[in-house]
Amino acid sequence: MSPIPTMFFSFFLLLLFYPSCFPARTAPLSSSPEPATTINHNSTWPNFQKFLDASKGRHFSGISELKKYMQRFGYLQVTDTTSGDEFDERFEFAVARYQRKLGLTVTGKLDSDTISEMTLPRCGVSDTLPTSNLHAVRHYNYFNGKPRWSRAIPTTLTYAFSPNCMASNLKLSDIRLVFRRAFSRWSAVIPVNFTEAETYGFSDIKIGFYTGDHDDGEPFDGVLGVLAHGFSPESGKLHLDAAETWALDFESEKSRVAVDLESVATHEIGHVLGLAHSFDKESVMYPSLKPREKKMDLKVDDIEGIQQLYGSNPNFNIKTLSQSDTSSNHGIDSKIELRSSRWSFAIAMLAIMFVVC
Ligand SMILES: [Zn+2]
Ligand SMILES: [Zn+2]
Repeated sequence: MSPIPTMFFSFFLLLLFYPSCFPARTAPLSSSPEPATTINHNSTWPNFQKFLDASKGRHFSGISELKKYMQRFGYLQVTDTTSGDEFDERFEFAVARYQRKLGLTVTGKLDSDTISEMTLPRCGVSDTLPTSNLHAVRHYNYFNGKPRWSRAIPTTLTYAFSPNCMASNLKLSDIRLVFRRAFSRWSAVIPVNFTEAETYGFSDIKIGFYTGDHDDGEPFDGVLGVLAHGFSPESGKLHLDAAETWALDFESEKSRVAVDLESVATHEIGHVLGLAHSFDKESVMYPSLKPREKKMDLKVDDIEGIQQLYGSNPNFNIKTLSQSDTSSNHGIDSKIELRSSRWSFAIAMLAIMFVVC
């Protein structure tokens, strides 16, 4: 082969495979927010970073705050917090329970994955810890006593927004739309309908945005930290922390600490209906949600959990959901096809070169 066609062919091959040999950097997401751990907020949780790699047998100044966190979310008994700043055996056991529940590697130490999870914003509802199903396949859980709305199924639950306590940065009409969509995700899978009531006082589900202590024993803590809480049936209380930067979409809301309202609304409705937190990281009922993260589509775990309580909506077909879940493979398939077509093209060009030379 003479030098010129060889050079041409080499250059051609370089062009052809450039994206595979030197992959371009993936385009950043629209606003490339910083990791949650670097964001300053009012919660004390970011201070937990200083306990990185702490383990049993030593004294760590201020670790009693982390014990309060573990107590608040159900991993440590009130009586276990009396040992102050000592990383004792009971605390190690609590850390291991937390790791097991949240799907982390169980070490009993405050390793980086565990500390990172603890500093994420999350739901204020305690993680119930049934001992009977720790090794079960399912991840969904219920509140103690497995309460649900005790009405004949099918049924309709009404909801209303507090006339006095709403988000200052959002229009009521937008909030109503978000909640209508969030309720419809659940009504699509169970035989329960939701309609907005005309009067707040007589509605089954009462939704409001509150700041700090708001007289239900579960005070909010400012930006990030605890985002919201929903009470078990048949309380109907669904409260959101008014201090959050609630977002309808991340195109118009650029804040690094923005929280997706629809994701949180969908999660808290799950509590109002009777679901506790799930172990499944992908499920809507998983307790934490990163700033600027969207997680609003019910997963199989959420659906199976809620259908155990209320039965299935006769129009719902889980096969439809499974098909849409697997549709993401199409991108992988097309990449493989594209790569093989490039090879076919290159081989064809090589053959032409030999004929020409
Ligand atoms: Zn929750
Ligand atoms: Zn509340």
